[in-house]
Amino acid sequence: MCLHYLTGFCPLGKDCEQAHPKFEVSAEAAAEAESAYNQSGNRLNMDEVTCYRCSEKGHFANKCPNRYVFLIPPIINVLI
Ligand SMILES: [Zn+2]
Ligand SMILES: [Zn+2]
Repeated sequence: MCLHYLTGFCPLGKDCEQAHPKFEVSAEAAAEAESAYNQSGNRLNMDEVTCYRCSEKGHFANKCPNRYVFLIPPIINVLI
């Protein structure tokens, strides 16, 4: 286990042959940051989301304000 790293700084960094136990914690934190980024990314991508019910952008079908639209096409198909 690398004493340099344990004391806060290892000049060898990733090239150090000693174990850097905190690196896994950093990876975890990175994963958390990444998931947080993905969540905010999803929020940003809401503008790109296309609702399959009404084909409008900006919301998912389960949040669709036009739920009744979904019922209309099958009725038309039956009539045709
Ligand atoms: Zn080290
Ligand atoms: Zn919709």
